[in-house]
This record gives sequence, structure tokens and C-alpha cells, in this order.
Amino acid sequence: MAWVFGMTIRLGFSLIFMVLSVALAVCGAVALRSKKEIGVPLGRMLFCLIPPVVGNLLIIASATELPATIGCYLYYVGINFTVFGLLRYTLTYCKVDWVSDRLRVFVLSLLGLDILQLLCNIFFHHAFGIERIELYGRPYYRMVPYLPQNLHRVLVYSLLFAVVAVFFTKMLHSSRIHARRYAVIFFTLVVVILWCTFYVVSRTPLDRSMIGYAFFGLMAFYFSLYYKPVRLLNRIMVDISAELPDALYFFDDAGTCIWMNKEGMQLLRLSAGDLDAVPERLKPYLAGSQETDNWTSDVEVENEKGKRYYHLERRTIRDGRGRIDGAFLNVRDDTQARLKLMQEEQRARHDELTGLFTRPYLYHRIRELMAGAGRGEVYDLVFANVSGFKLVNDIFGTAFGDKVLQKIAALLGEIVPAGGVYGRLGGDTFGLFVPDRAFDAERVEALLKDFTVSAGDVEYHVLIHMGAYEVRERGLDVSVMFDRARIACASLQNDYHTHVARYDDAMRVNMVWEQQITGELHNAIKTRQIIPYLQPLVDVSGRVVGAEALVRWNHPEHGFLAPYRFVPIFERNGMIAELDRYMWRCACEQLAEWRDRDLFISVNISPKDFYFMDVAAEIKALTREYDVDPARLCIEITEGVMISDVENKIRILDDLRDAGFVVEMDDFGSGYSSLNMLKNMPIDVIKIDMVFLRNAEDDVKSGKILQNIIHMSTDLNIVPLTEGVETKKQYDDLTQMGCKLFQGYYFAKPMPVGDFEAHYLAA
Ligand code: C2E
Ligand code: MG
Ligand code: MG
Repeated sequence: MAWVFGMTIRLGFSLIFMVLSVALAVCGAVALRSKKEIGVPLGRMLFCLIPPVVGNLLIIASATELPATIGCYLYYVGINFTVFGLLRYTLTYCKVDWVSDRLRVFVLSLLGLDILQLLCNIFFHHAFGIERIELYGRPYYRMVPYLPQNLHRVLVYSLLFAVVAVFFTKMLHSSRIHARRYAVIFFTLVVVILWCTFYVVSRTPLDRSMIGYAFFGLMAFYFSLYYKPVRLLNRIMVDISAELPDALYFFDDAGTCIWMNKEGMQLLRLSAGDLDAVPERLKPYLAGSQETDNWTSDVEVENEKGKRYYHLERRTIRDGRGRIDGAFLNVRDDTQARLKLMQEEQRARHDELTGLFTRPYLYHRIRELMAGAGRGEVYDLVFANVSGFKLVNDIFGTAFGDKVLQKIAALLGEIVPAGGVYGRLGGDTFGLFVPDRAFDAERVEALLKDFTVSAGDVEYHVLIHMGAYEVRERGLDVSVMFDRARIACASLQNDYHTHVARYDDAMRVNMVWEQQITGELHNAIKTRQIIPYLQPLVDVSGRVVGAEALVRWNHPEHGFLAPYRFVPIFERNGMIAELDRYMWRCACEQLAEWRDRDLFISVNISPKDFYFMDVAAEIKALTREYDVDPARLCIEITEGVMISDVENKIRILDDLRDAGFVVEMDDFGSGYSSLNMLKNMPIDVIKIDMVFLRNAEDDVKSGKILQNIIHMSTDLNIVPLTEGVETKKQYDDLTQMGCKLFQGYYFAKPMPVGDFEAHYLAA
């Protein structure tokens, strides 16, 4: 009977040891794979536990001496490995370091030497022996330690105590929540050590202490990898929530407030015990919010601090099956952020200097107005530009420039009636949007005419041009409409009398045309699309004495272009200088070819040429280059040249005349030329424009004027030349009056150089 009982016990324990070995192996493998820092030392410790467990199993299970002996060795040697593994695990788990590398090497060496000593037992039998006893009527081989075996025990126990001490210190010095982690392992270890000591001291035949170690290993496995300090987490959550800058309220499933954080109390001016008052106090914040599960809303609340803005978010908390656990409400004070945003918006919408709308906001407002307007409503969209504003800044300084812009802003306020909007588009440009045809161009014209800004004692007239576009096509983008208004405005460039222009489609066509030919000029000169035509100049006897070079553009796309199609455009944008320089070169080239002929060529000089080049130097250089006698090149200036910087111009003309060139005053009588001017002007020839007489109703009067001009110029030693002579009668009359030179269709129209040579140089 005892035999059966003994067998059952030994079998039972064998089974337990086997299960524990498998469990240690599985947990060890899991630990090694874990990404946690503790994973590897834990896994290694668990694997180290397997040999002593298996050793113990062999001792318990075997009925013969050899397996029991092998079990003993496995047990002892395994214990050394286990202790070292335990040490490594402990240091990592408790985040303690080896005091020094030397200590580590020392411990390792001791354990190694001990293992060596244990293995030497095979030969010397000095440490322990195997004793056969009867257990429940069956042979049982147990280990008998000799004195040297105590060395092993001292070593193992010292290290175990070191481990226990580390856990103990950690347990004492950690916060209560964390101490739990260490305490569990500490107590398990103490119990296991005591249990083991009991077997050692009592020499109870069936040593089951490894069950304790294995159990400790599994506990360590759980606490290291899976244990989560729930209370700690809770505490952290509560602490964080309590300190959150947002007001937080938690409700149970019945809607009763169960908790609020500090901010929540402050917001509703309640204390922690006033939970029942929360729903009532929250009412102003919840007005208008939905009764759904989760929602967010923004509310404005007026309280003693003034208007405040809040962002509310409510979330329902449900369990795994969807039943309501409760809810929380988060109230964030957005006032600061909102005010900042509003300030930024204000800044983005209003120009700092003038306080007017900025371009993006003006566009936005215009779009809004158009979207809200009735179908038939007509608006005027106006683009305003200060002419020569850069000059104003340069001459009077930017402070004055700023003052000008501010005064313009005030002026626009007078122009735009209620219901309209206006703003600063940038720099010196402004935009207006005026409803109901209320943009009164005449009134605006009058306002702009007298628009002055005072700079000290000086009243400075600021020239403002406005282009108005009547908005009919609602589909157009605001920027396109402003482009059109800008085109109308640009049509007034250099116009000092008119301030307002209305856009029509012809303007756009012109604009496109201007841009096209301006872009093409350079290439047109290079490819000889630009050519000089010559119109003969005739003397009293009818002999051709010279020619005027007049430009023509043989355009590949637009055909033959007369100067009126492009010269005024190039005069506006300054490209005329390039064109004229080329024409003068052609004239010189021609004169060089006609070296043996007694013919001169007149070339036109635009007033703008003087801005862009040193006219005298250029012309002199050309005649030198082609070796042409300056006396054969006549220079035609118009009275426009004399509008500004008169003294300098006179100096240039004197210079040219001194160099031998003939200077002619072109189009005399077509503009503002006065007879008085003649006496101051350094000119040799005056070209009287017949065209201006042609419209005069009174022929007799016209005749008298002509007669006077001719007389006076002759008196002043200026040769009179009449252009625009179309009839024989005109030629005869002019000859009678004393005119010396003639140009006009009566003699010939301008013609290509080849034709001119064929007609007049053939002989
Ligand atoms: P302009 O210098 O006064 O040239 C005389 C213009 O009168 C020429 O027109 C000529 O064809 C025209 N004409 C001549 N005789 C008669 C006539 O009997 N009856 C009428 N109705 N017209 C006559 P065009 O060639 O069309 O040139 C127009 C203007 O273009 C020129 O007036 C001149 O101011 C400018 N222009 C022409 N070529 C050049 C140039 O190379 N450079 C510059 N800056 N301007 C030029
Ligand atoms: Mg001319
Ligand atoms: Mg002329």
C-alpha cells in the first residue's frame, strides 16, 4: 500500500516538474521575443531555471543510481546558472547597475570556479555523494553533501541575499504604487528561499524546492511583461484631468455629474462638493446644443469678464456592448485664440496706413456684393492710380507720400456712396466698387482736378487717374474686371487734363495691339520689316532737293502699317528711341550711297528720344561712321521737345547746328507753337503744317496767317517749308508768298527708296 502511495507521489511530482519545465521554456521563448528591455534577461533566467528543474525531476523519478546522479549534477550546475540569470534579471528589472565591471567579472569567476569544483566531484567525490535510501518501499537516490559543498551553498546564498536585498531596497524607496511590483517578487523570493532552506536543513528526502523557484520564475514573467499598474494609471489619469486647462465634467448614465476638474469648478464657480449644481450652471453653455450622443459646438457667453468664446465637446462613454456608461463634457475657453484670430483678420482685411480694405478683402467684398445683387443692377468698378507717385516719394519723402495716400483714402470716401466698397490694391493704386451708376465721372473729374496736398508752404497737385469699368457680365472674375478698369486708366497716361476714362472694348483691343507690337519691334528692325520711305522735298523751281525719311512697317501679319499705328505707342513707352536710331542709320546709309548727289534727307526726332539717349552724340557718331556731311542731314524736331528742360534742349540744338547739321521745326502751327518762340529757337528751317489751315473756314484769314509766318521766318533767317501741299494752286500761292521749300502729295507721296531713286536719280 505504502509502495503505491510512494509511487503516486513521485509520479505526481515528476509530472509537476515536467509541466513546469515546459511552462518555463514557453515563457522563456515569449520573453526573449518581447520588445521590452527586460525581455532578454528574463528569458535567459527562465531558461536557466530549466536544468535544475529537470535535475530535480530526474532525482525524484529515477529508481536507479545513474539518472539520479546525472540529476544531481544538472541540479547543482543549473543552480549556478540560475543564480547568475536571476542576478542579471534583478539588475535590469530594478534598474540598478553593476557597481563595477570588476564585480561582475568576480561574481562570474566565482560561479565558474564553483561549477568546475562541482564537476570535479565526478572524479574526486569531495563535494557530495549519492546515497541510496528506501522511500515508501522503493529505492531512492539522494544527494549527500560533504563539507566542501558548503562553499557552493555560501556562494549561492550570498548571491540570493544580494538579489533579495536589491528588491527590498527598491520596495522601500519606491512610491506605494510602484513598491507593489517589487514587493510581490521580493516576498515570493523570500518564501522560495526559506522553502529551499527547509529542504537543505531538514534533509527531507523528496526535495520539491525547485517548484518554488519555477513558480517564482513564472511570477517574474507575469510581473515583468504583463502586469499593468491599474491604480497608477488611474491616478495619472485623474491627476492629468484635474490639471487640464479645459473644464471637464463627468456624468453617469443618468446624467448626474459625478466629477469635475479644477477648471470645471472655476468656470461654474462651484466647489468640489457642488456636483448637483453643475447641470443648472451649465445651461447657458449648452443653449442650442443637440441632444445627440457626441457633439461639438462653439458658444459665446456674456459674463462679468465680458464676452467669452467657448468650444464645447461632449462624448458618450459606452461599454463593450454599446450600453451607456456615462459621458463627459469638455469646455475649452477659446477667447484668447478667437480675439487673436479676429485681430489677425482685421489686420489682413485692413491696410495699415490708410485703414482701407486690402486687395484680397476688397475682392472678397465685391464678390459678395455681386452675388447678392439683383439681376439688372449695374455697378461701376474703378481702378485709381497716382501718376508719378514714385517721384512724390523721391522729392518730398515717404512721410509726405504716406500723407498723400491717406488723403486719397479720405477722398475715395467722398466718391463712394453708401452701399459701395473701396480699398487699397497696393502701392499707389486703389479700387472702388460703386453701385447703381452712382459713379459720377463729372463730379469725380472736378474733385480730382483740385486735389492737392500741402507740403509745408507748397500746395502739391497730385495727379490721379481713374479707369471705370461698367460691370455687366457677372461671370467675370474681379481681377479681370480690374484689369479692364486698369486699361482704361492706362489710356490716360501723361494726360494732365482728363482724370477719368471709361473702359470700352476698343481699349482692350488697343492694349493687346500695343503689347504685341512692342514685343515685336526689336525683331522687326532686325528682319528689316521696318523700312524708310522717302517723300521728296521740292524747291521753288520744282526741283527735288531732298527727302524726308518716314518710317513704315511691313508687318507679316497685319500688312503695311503707317506710323500712326505704332509711333505714338512707342513714344509712350520709350521704344521710339530704338526705332529712331535705326531710321537715322538708314538715312546716313542712304546719304553715303548718294555721295555724289546734292540731296539731303530729313529725319524725325521724337521729344522722347532726348530722355533715352544723347541725341547729338548719337547723330554725330552716325555721320562719322558713314562719313556723311552733316549739312546733308536735316533734323526734324517738334515743339514737344521744347515743353520741358528748354535750356538744355537749346544747348543740344546749338551743338548740332555748330556741327553743321540743319535743324528743322516740324509741324509748325499744328500745336501750340507761337511765332514768338521762333526768335529764341536755334533752327534753320520751319515746316509749316498745311493741314491745320485746311480746316479753317475763312480762306482769306488762313492765307494771311500763312503769309505772316512765311514773312516772319524769312525775316528771322529761317527757311520756310510748307508740308501738305496737295494742289498746284497751293504751290503757286505759297511760292507767291515767298515759301522756299515744299513737300506734299502734289509732288509725290512717300515711296520706297528704290522708287525714289528710279524717279529722281535716274538721270
Ligand atoms: P511728319 O514728320 O510731319 O511727316 C509728314 C507726314 O505728312 C507723313 O505722314 C506724310 O506722309 C504726310 N504728308 C506728306 N504730304 C502730305 C499731303 O500732301 N497731304 C497729307 N494729308 N499728308 C501728307 P506719315 O508718313 O504717315 O507720318 C506721320 C508722322 O509720323 C510724321 O509726321 C512723324 O511725326 C511721324 N513719323 C514718321 N516716321 C517717323 C520716324 O521715323 N520717327 C519718328 N519719331 N516719327 C516718325
Ligand atoms: Mg517730319
Ligand atoms: Mg510734319
